[in-house]
Amino acid sequence: MDFNLSDEQILFRDTIRGFVDSEIRPVARDWEQSGRYPTEIVESLRRMGLFGMTVPAEYGGMDVDFVSLAIVFEEISRAWMGIAGILGSHSLSCLMIARHGTDEQKARYLPELATGTRRTGIALTEPDAGTDLQGIKTRARLDGEDYVVNGAKIWITNARHANPLPVLVKTDPEADPPHRGMSVLLIEQGTPGFVVSRDMGKLGYKGTESCEISLEDVRVPRGELLGEEPGHGLQQVLEALELGRINIAARGVGVAQEAYDQSLAYSRQREAFGRPISGFQAIQLKLADMATSVQAARLLTYWAASRADLGQRTDLEAGMAKLFASETALSNSIEAMRIHGGAGYSTELDIERLYRDSPLMVIGEGTNEVQRIVIARALLSGRGSIG
Ligand SMILES: Cc1cc2nc3c(=O)[nH]c(=O)nc-3n(C[C@H](O)[C@H](O)[C@H](O)COP(=O)(O)OP(=O)(O)OC[C@H]3O[C@@H](n4cnc5c(N)ncnc54)[C@H](O)[C@@H]3O)c2cc1C
Repeated sequence: MDFNLSDEQILFRDTIRGFVDSEIRPVARDWEQSGRYPTEIVESLRRMGLFGMTVPAEYGGMDVDFVSLAIVFEEISRAWMGIAGILGSHSLSCLMIARHGTDEQKARYLPELATGTRRTGIALTEPDAGTDLQGIKTRARLDGEDYVVNGAKIWITNARHANPLPVLVKTDPEADPPHRGMSVLLIEQGTPGFVVSRDMGKLGYKGTESCEISLEDVRVPRGELLGEEPGHGLQQVLEALELGRINIAARGVGVAQEAYDQSLAYSRQREAFGRPISGFQAIQLKLADMATSVQAARLLTYWAASRADLGQRTDLEAGMAKLFASETALSNSIEAMRIHGGAGYSTELDIERLYRDSPLMVIGEGTNEVQRIVIARALLSGRGSIG
């Protein structure tokens, strides 16, 4: 087994790290706290071609391998996890359109999605259904050559910028099992009845918007149904979410690494009882646990990503990586706060942001309770490559 990144991946990581250190890190604290939208950073992401990471080269994308994708999310999240949200659901939906879209849909959307001229996201969650996606209430009824959509979505990242926004709907509410009646519609901004009604107040994950959307008699041309025929929406979405978990795992690694890095530096410089606090065994034990966990999370994440690069199913691997890395981000950020003492609680340092950003990764892209169930199912079915 080779645990090393290739020369190209190292070069790619160094390029991303240089960009993050020069353009994201210096503004992160101020912009996050003021709630300012990071327009200039989005422009740089465009310039670097990062909106095209999961778009095939024939449509102008970078089509990077999944390990490189993980590196991007890890590096950005070291400085400001909210920025990773701008690329996260965009990349997931580009992949979904590339894999399942008709030739016409791919030709219409992918070239502009690759350059970031168009951006996207994904609208699954509703006020009454998140984990239980088969319980969604948004309906799309065929009327002539249009679907007429009614319903509501909540917590939708990039909602104001996504054009088109893939929206999970029920095209046949009577289908049994329900997933056979579910489809994805690509809805363009400005379509009458499609309203981004409000921004959700939230603990962290700032920099990108998370919105509620109402859909009232929205007419969507039949040709905007993702793929050739209705009834495959849940499958399309779940497959994309499997890869989305690699992105969440990588964000967890980034946040956990930053919490460790800042703790190590602070422990060397902060003195108590006449010596650096790094001299106390109580602090050393924390540093050892934090470093061990973050490296384990990174290896799990790159392992899951390299499985995806082989074109293998990754429900088990991505589930394990997402579960472990997000829990590591949470535990490392609280340990970082303990090591920093009162300073860790201050808005003048970054630790409180790491602490506020971490829980989202435990909840998003499938909660960690559900991740454990996904992992157990894969193990019990005999699928999975452990041991
Ligand atoms: C900042 C933010 C951004 C988001 N961005 C997006 C987005 O862009 N697009 C989008 O579609 N959604 C988005 N979400 C929604 C997110 O994906 C959901 O919050 C998540 O899937 C959980 O759904 P829920 O909130 O309805 O919780 P629920 O499904 O109500 O779950 C509540 C609790 O019950 C547990 N639970 C539920 N079912 C089971 C089960 N079968 N077994 C065991 N435990 C169970 C859960 O683990 C959880 O602990 C975002 C959320 C946040 C907070």
